[in-house]
Amino acid sequence: MVNNMVKDESYYREKNRQERNRNLNKKNGKNKKEKKKSKNRNKNNLKTLIILFAGIVIIFSIIMFIILKLISRNVNEEKIETEKIAQIHEESKKEDNVIEVVLEPKNKIDDWRLILVNSRNPLPEDSKEPELVYVEGKQFDKRAAGELQEMMKAMKKDGITNIWIQSTYRSIEYQKQLYDNKINEYLSKGATKEQAEALTIEYINRPGESEHNLGLAVDFNNVDDDFENTKAYNWLSVNAKDYGFIMRYPEEKADITGIAYEPWHWRYVGKEHSYKMEELDMCLEEYIEYLENGGEI
Ligand SMILES: [Zn+2]
Repeated sequence: MVNNMVKDESYYREKNRQERNRNLNKKNGKNKKEKKKSKNRNKNNLKTLIILFAGIVIIFSIIMFIILKLISRNVNEEKIETEKIAQIHEESKKEDNVIEVVLEPKNKIDDWRLILVNSRNPLPEDSKEPELVYVEGKQFDKRAAGELQEMMKAMKKDGITNIWIQSTYRSIEYQKQLYDNKINEYLSKGATKEQAEALTIEYINRPGESEHNLGLAVDFNNVDDDFENTKAYNWLSVNAKDYGFIMRYPEEKADITGIAYEPWHWRYVGKEHSYKMEELDMCLEEYIEYLENGGEI
């Protein structure tokens, strides 16, 4: 009886244990399934995150691309002028290499930058017009325009705002018109041909006898002696040579140039010559003679 009871008891205990185990296994199974499910959920979350992140990266890249494009467009617009100048500069360099002298030099020096033009060395009336481009609204020889433009920019950058270009290139034809009109005016007033000419050249250069016919000379501001007292004049006296320009008619050289002091009139000769001329303290007439006699640059 007692044995039976013990049996029953152990039987039930065993049954309970098995039941517990079954439950435990079920639970474990459930846990495993849940773990699997949550693993899948995590995987899906990760996928979503990656897609989201990639999306953000793509959108960000597109926005950055557009912003950069806009910025670069603005920068480009600002740079257009500079690039144009650089291009002119480059082209003029190339042209220097394949030198094709448009205007026959009067001196023996084969350099378009050193052509001497004055009453003793006039340009022939049929001289070809140089290739011209505009600098600050005025025509200048294309080969030197870049340096004139850079010089103007540098002056303004140094705070000199009271500066403008009054006159650069004048065609021989235009000058002939002015000259002939003046001659005719005097003739009609009863002057002889000689008298009319003498009176006219007091005001107007003969066609081809002005450096302005070359397109390499520039007159600043009001074309008067007061220019000497301006900041612009001081600046040019120090810096113009760095851009290849010289003061063409200095006071102390008037007897050599044949032209009275003109502080407003500057001539392009190119950097190597402007430096050398300053070093030697020579005006263009003297410098050309120096080169013709075998002087070194
Ligand atoms: Zn002048």
